Amino acid sequence: MLLIFGLSVFFRTVSEGSFHCPQCGGDRNYRRRAGRRWFTLFFVPVIPLNRVGEAVECRTCRTRFGVSVLRTPTALQMAAALPAGMRAAATLVLRAGDPADEAARDLAVEAVRGYGEERYDEDDVAADLQLRVEFLEEEVARAGAQLAVEAKEWFLSQAVRVGLAGGPLTENERRTLHRVAQLLGMSRAHALGVIVTTEGAAR
Ligand SMILES: [Zn+2]
Repeated sequence: MLLIFGLSVFFRTVSEGSFHCPQCGGDRNYRRRAGRRWFTLFFVPVIPLNRVGEAVECRTCRTRFGVSVLRTPTALQMAAALPAGMRAAATLVLRAGDPADEAARDLAVEAVRGYGEERYDEDDVAADLQLRVEFLEEEVARAGAQLAVEAKEWFLSQAVRVGLAGGPLTENERRTLHRVAQLLGMSRAHALGVIVTTEGAAR
């Protein structure tokens, strides 16, 4: 009997999701595929051999990329980063002051809605107050990465307004606002300018 054997690479899907496809340009679905070399007998894979790496395949144009392509944010993620960042910044400021202050909570809701998350409400504020500081800071930094200089000023001024709702800024609130500005990528002097201007406008 004649034995027909050989080596073939087979791909299987390990996960799916959406990504920004650099080839067809937009948010697309992808399949993440892992390849493995097999020893085949009569064209049937019988013995698994070494792995040959992973690839991300666009479901639309079928182009395959290295997995690093998943690092680019999708348009949807970029749009979501801003309200998420504002939620985080407002939460940090609330926590630095009096988190129970109703006027401050109202302004936090208003600020987040101003970034497009219209269903954000009091319950969400309460839930966000439970989140870890590291997580919140990451969200602020992610939003900062997408904002132009003027937009950073506006973003920070919204956070300042939350802090001012319960009265003049405390030392703790001031420190937190500078931290938010730092996460946004603003210099200390620049941040101070925005904070002072916002304080002046609120008087
Ligand atoms: Zn594509």
